[in-house]
This record gives sequence, C-alpha cells and structure tokens, in this order.
Amino acid sequence: MSFLDVHAHFAEEGYDIPAEWQKIGAAGVARVILAGDTLAHSRMHRDLSAQYEGMYFTAGVHPSEAAAFDEGTLAGIEELLSSPKCVAVGEVGLDYHWDVPDKRVQQAVFSRQLELAHKYRLPVQIHSRDCFADMFAMLRERRELLSDGFLMHCYSHGAANLDAFAALGGYFSFGGVACFKMPETSGRACAPAPRSASSRRRTAPISPPCAGRRTRPRTFPSSSPASHSCGERRRRRSRRRSCKTQKHSLQSWDKIMDTYVYRIGKNLYVNLTNRCSNRCTFCVRNGKDTFEGYHLWLKDGEPSARQVEEALGSCDCDEVVFCGFGEPTYRLATMLEVCDYVHLLGKKTRLNTNGHGSIINERDIAPELVGKLDGINISLNASNAKLYEKLCRPLYPDMAFDSMLFFAQACRENGLNCWFSVVDCIGEPEVEACRAVAERVGIPLRVRPMIG
Ligand code: SF4
Repeated sequence: MSFLDVHAHFAEEGYDIPAEWQKIGAAGVARVILAGDTLAHSRMHRDLSAQYEGMYFTAGVHPSEAAAFDEGTLAGIEELLSSPKCVAVGEVGLDYHWDVPDKRVQQAVFSRQLELAHKYRLPVQIHSRDCFADMFAMLRERRELLSDGFLMHCYSHGAANLDAFAALGGYFSFGGVACFKMPETSGRACAPAPRSASSRRRTAPISPPCAGRRTRPRTFPSSSPASHSCGERRRRRSRRRSCKTQKHSLQSWDKIMDTYVYRIGKNLYVNLTNRCSNRCTFCVRNGKDTFEGYHLWLKDGEPSARQVEEALGSCDCDEVVFCGFGEPTYRLATMLEVCDYVHLLGKKTRLNTNGHGSIINERDIAPELVGKLDGINISLNASNAKLYEKLCRPLYPDMAFDSMLFFAQACRENGLNCWFSVVDCIGEPEVEACRAVAERVGIPLRVRPMIG
C-alpha cells in the first residue's frame, strides 16, 4: 500500500528536505501535498515541489493570517494557482478559537479564496475551528464555488455535524487526535465518516500523536488505519466505540432529514429553510446543530409544502409557528400553502420573522400575508440601524433595519396582527428605546426572555 499525505507544512521547519524525502519514499508515502498558510510559504512550497516528483502544493492564506490579506496577496495566490503542481486552494477557512482576526475579515478572505478556487477549477482544503454555524452557512450559500470538491482538513466538528458537510460533498481528514485514547472530537467523527470521503493525516510538523516530537510524512503510515501503532486492545475498544458512534450518527442523520416540524410546549414549529439574511450574534443556531434536541440544519434540502403537511399531520397543537434555523420568508410560497392547510384544520398560524421578507422577495409581501397568518412576530432586536448591524450582521447592511420597519408598517396597514419583539437582556434603556421605535411604527412591543 502506498500513501498520500494530503497536508504537510515544510516551509517553516528547516527540514533537510533531500534526506527527508528519501525516507518518506522508503516509508511508503508516494505523494505529499504541502499546504500553504501564507503567500510566502505557498511560494516556498511551489519552489520545493518543482524539485521533487510526487510533491505537490496548495496555495492560500490561513484564517489566522487573514488580517494581512490584501489585493497584492490575492494576486500572488492567484499567480501560484496556475503552477502545474498546485493541486488546491488551501489551507483557507475560519478559525474562531481566538478573538483575532475579526470574524468578518476571516469570512471575507475565505470568500475571496473560494472564488479563486472556482475560477481555477481547483478543490479547496478548508481549515475550520470553533465556527460550525458560519462555516456551514458559508459553504451552503457558496456551494457553486465548491464544484471541484473540498476537504475538511483536520476535521473537528464532531460526528453529528459531519453529515452536514458530507451533504455538501465534502471530504474529511482527521488529525492525530484520531489515535487518542479518548477522542472527543475528531476520533468520534472519524468512525462514521464515509470511507470514500475520509482520510487520516498528521500535520507535519506540528500535529499529535507525536507530542513533543516533530511529525513527519514518513511517520504517517504508522498511524494509518491499515497499520497504526495503537495497540490491539485500543483498536478493539475503538471498533466498539466506532459501532456505537456509527449508530448514533445514523440516528442523527435520520433526525436531521426529518426535522421539518418540531414541538415545543403546545405549539408546532416549522423549519422551512436554513437561509437567513442575518448572521445574528445571539442566534440559537450559532455553533450548534440542535435546538431543544432537534436537528434543524436541513441536510436533505428544504421541504416542500407536502412534506411539511405530512410532518404536521393532524396539527395537534394550539398554533403552528414558522420559525426554525432560518428566515421563513425565503420560502414564502411554501409557507402560504402550509398556512392554508393549517387553517383547514382549524388551527392558527404565526410567523417569527426578521422582517426582511420584502427585500428577500423583492416586493412588498405584506398584502400576500393577509388571511394566511394570524400573528406576525417581527424581531426588532435594536433601536437603531447601527446597533442592529452590529448585533444582527445583515447581508444587506444599508437597508436591513429600515426595510424591517417598513415591513412592520406595511403589515399594520394591511390589518395584520403583528408586533415587535426584543429580548430582555438588552437592558432597560435599550428596551425603552425599542419601545419608542415600536410606537413610531404603530405596533406593540413584546419583551421576551432570551433563549438558547
Ligand atoms: S434572523 Fe433569526 S435565524 Fe437569522 S440569524 Fe438572526 S436569529 Fe438566527
């Protein structure tokens, strides 16, 4: 068996490359891909790979280096992508483990590099740490840029979230922690990963399990599934754990596929979409794949009205609420169809919305809601546009706050039963400021406790 090491950093370590390369080949590693983390290292890797058959490289800027990224960096990376031995854009992505660089900067840099990958028809090596919700949202929304594939490098988001990336066509690599005795993240996720979509790797020179020693591509075969150095007892334990994890994962998958409707108290909630025009800092979906035990990330696409109606069944509830892990008005037609079904069964309907339905649908949607929705809860969140932008991080920052107010006003003018809501944790002065906004628009304000 020969091995491919998909992710090694040679640039910064001062390897004796000729000697090392011989040992790598002797150890059965036929190919090594050197991963770029800065423009300078990507260039060094290009120059190195030009000298060795079987050595390739990726070009990209790591999220930790995003602050220094500028147009010159972009042009430099772009130039490298045309090199014959450049096989991917990477490693790029998001890393929220530390407070810097700013998340929005990281997202912008990641986005630019995804565009490059698409332009040059290259796959992407993705670094993703403590950022599941944003990473998943970005990959979903920019899916067209991933047509040449992507590898979740050093995957660490756990087994439950693995399906989310697999559904987008992702591949996975697992670091040395897969060999730890009690793997809490990668190891657990490793077991249920589709064989065709998984790889195990160490990041030379820094990754465990060779803690305190340099990890090299030539030591990679000894930690591979075929002959890894963990003892037989550990392998047996690992296999038992793998079976359990596999089962757990499949159960999770079923739930994820099926959670179009969920129950909280006496109400049924409908989860129509994961698209949203905001990235609220306080959103319950941030960093989570579940809410109240329900998997609300839609791994199998958005449901049709018929699928929702089937899930609602006889509507054994007080009220059907359109809510979920996304903004329901992205699915306006489907929502209105389901409203008719709910009304046929004599139950009430409510929409929980961020109020962007009219900009999302590019028309004033309020008249279409008449007779369909018995209540509309519009999240006000803040008393002014500046604060709103900071808290909600809208996709349309210039118009998000005002368009939400216009929507509320239009609902009122169309005789719809609507109200603003804010959470109580924003503090009394801000609540009062929000109350004044609600009075100006002419609809009530409800103050509710924070959830999540
Ligand atoms: S508008 Fe709602 S679903 Fe969208 S990010 Fe904000 S809280 Fe989450």
